[in-house]
Amino acid sequence: MQISQLLISACQQLDKLTDSARLDAEILLAHALKKNRTWLATWADKSLPDNEINSFNSLLERRKAGEPIAHITGSREFWSLDVKVTKDTLIPRPETELMVEKILSLYPQQNNIELLDLGTGSGAIALALASERPGWKITATDQSPSALDIARQNAQRLALNNINFQSGDWFEPVNNRKFDIIASNPPYIPHTDPHLSQGDVRFEPRSALASGEDGLDAIRLICQQARTHLKPEAMLIIEHGFDQKSALRSIFMLSGYKNIQQDLDLAANPRLTHGFNH
Ligand code: GLN
Repeated sequence: MQISQLLISACQQLDKLTDSARLDAEILLAHALKKNRTWLATWADKSLPDNEINSFNSLLERRKAGEPIAHITGSREFWSLDVKVTKDTLIPRPETELMVEKILSLYPQQNNIELLDLGTGSGAIALALASERPGWKITATDQSPSALDIARQNAQRLALNNINFQSGDWFEPVNNRKFDIIASNPPYIPHTDPHLSQGDVRFEPRSALASGEDGLDAIRLICQQARTHLKPEAMLIIEHGFDQKSALRSIFMLSGYKNIQQDLDLAANPRLTHGFNH
């Protein structure tokens, strides 16, 4: 069977499951053949031997059973970095790149920034910032030792040496340290949200996704406790749900932050809130 035919058939099989059927099929076939997607397009008429078709089909079956693409291939691209992910980490989302972009644009020059990435998961935010700002001193924490292990492996593989990984619950590992920036993509989905039992998120750690009745437990805690871990004028920046904009504004205000600003993601949803300690 030719590559083009294989992809059409895979696409039909994935159609009901996902709105990215063609892309999913191409990523899986490229992964099975250890090639890239450009190679598939170039060799669309090539017929593949049975063993290659079989290994593609076994990946396709996993996808048809709902498993996320990033778990099948073992990685996801974030900020142009190849980030290893497993079932112990959240799969980095494109909207989180916005946080990286925002931090870089607010701190274009400073070279001696101390930044804390709370709940780093696969390490995505810390890795992206470390790659852009080699002079920064980055601390990345997570309560899950297995997530932290993946994050450490990512830093090592990407040769990023300016991240210090610490395991523990939220601020516990950094007890009396203070930072210039605290960044977090915490869990923010209400734990009764039906979205949690649908699609790819079913395969991700619940602790990285859901936080209390209204999804805001972790965010409330971080906002309150961050104050004592921020230097004067330092910034707290948090990713949150598209419908949590006004909740975030009041939590930031009640916790005493100044110059609070909120930003939209690429789909024009409010996604980021930041404010400053005084
Ligand atoms: N944006 C993710 C989702 O809706 C949630 C990520 C998170 O909770 N930090 O699937």
